Amino acid sequence: MSRLGKVIAPDNASRLPEADKVALRPEILATPPYRQGKPAAADAFKLSSNENPFPPLPGVIEAIAAETAINRYPDAAAFALRERLAARHDVDPAEIHVGSGSVALLAQFILAAATLGDEVVYSWRSFEAYPGLVTASGATSVPVPNTAAGGHDLDAIAAAITPRTRVVIVCSPNNPTGTTVTAADFERFMTQVPDSVLVLLDEAYAEFVRDAEAVNGLAIIGRHPNLVILRTFSKAYGLAGVRVGWALGAERLLDAARASAIPLSVTGIAQAAALASLEREAELLQRVDTIVERRSRVLAGLREQGWSVPESQANFVWLATGDETDAAAAVLAENGIIARAFSGSGIRVSVGEEESVEKLLAAAQLIVENLSAGHPDRRLERWCP
Ligand SMILES: *Cc1c(COP(=O)(O)O)cnc(C)c1O
Repeated sequence: MSRLGKVIAPDNASRLPEADKVALRPEILATPPYRQGKPAAADAFKLSSNENPFPPLPGVIEAIAAETAINRYPDAAAFALRERLAARHDVDPAEIHVGSGSVALLAQFILAAATLGDEVVYSWRSFEAYPGLVTASGATSVPVPNTAAGGHDLDAIAAAITPRTRVVIVCSPNNPTGTTVTAADFERFMTQVPDSVLVLLDEAYAEFVRDAEAVNGLAIIGRHPNLVILRTFSKAYGLAGVRVGWALGAERLLDAARASAIPLSVTGIAQAAALASLEREAELLQRVDTIVERRSRVLAGLREQGWSVPESQANFVWLATGDETDAAAAVLAENGIIARAFSGSGIRVSVGEEESVEKLLAAAQLIVENLSAGHPDRRLERWCP
């Protein structure tokens, strides 16, 4: 019988004592533990985690299978992958850092720069991992409300910087609204940020961007000493399951992140999969084109139904359903679409399999009919971002 506690134990399993005398940090106790969405029913589409719907390319599976020396620890420095990325972006390998997903990188940089009494500024609503990572560091979150259109208010973010600010996170495209920061606005913003403040540009969805005006961290390498660019293999490259992401920035900043990291957490399997994916990049980026094309059909279909959706540059769309979020998410779920609902705020729906497009649009139409009908105050125009 499982002794692992409430997560996997069946209802009748014996339970460990509650451990309610153990002193824990109050701010940690107040933070809900990460819970993944329910697994999708067999005929439902899981569009809740912005995963790539395409299975790995054959060469990637082979590279993973060739990693047989798993009785040994991996290369802690991920040297081959860093060398490859450094050559590609014309920087020194010391200016690349690899982590077990860019969530791990975010945690390392926040830990390296901020602690009790310090502040971390970011737009909100944004990536749901930010608040918890800041809390775990001991620092304080300073969330700055998104613009009415769901984007970053860079002037307000700059204005929120105080002598206590250690880190600013800019998420472009923003999860969950899909909006981007323009290159011009970002440059102007960086002139307002003190050199002593670390800026993390979280570009987990960069490969899906088609707006030529959007900021692209890799196009401005070297311009701002306090800027670190975060990228991941989880989304466009379809490697969410092996956990690998990378950072590009000044060696001193990356060394601080390395010093804050749990060593050896990027497996050899993950490194091999990332290298093999870079070798097959052209093929992978064709798949990204396919997803971008589906995204335009989803956005167009939703707008035709009357939804006001932000112009997403990522592999998801945002339904600003506000108070109706729980009811709308239930309609989606009943109709085979598992999405990510943020109660009271909105629903993020990933762009997934081709067959999911029609199914999503049909369910969205049902929401329009059911929730709007007979409720003149529940008009779709109110669901504007
Ligand atoms: C998905 C995501 C990440 C990274 O995920 P990893 O799988 O840890 O690389 C980082 N930032 C944002 C905004 C994301 O949506």
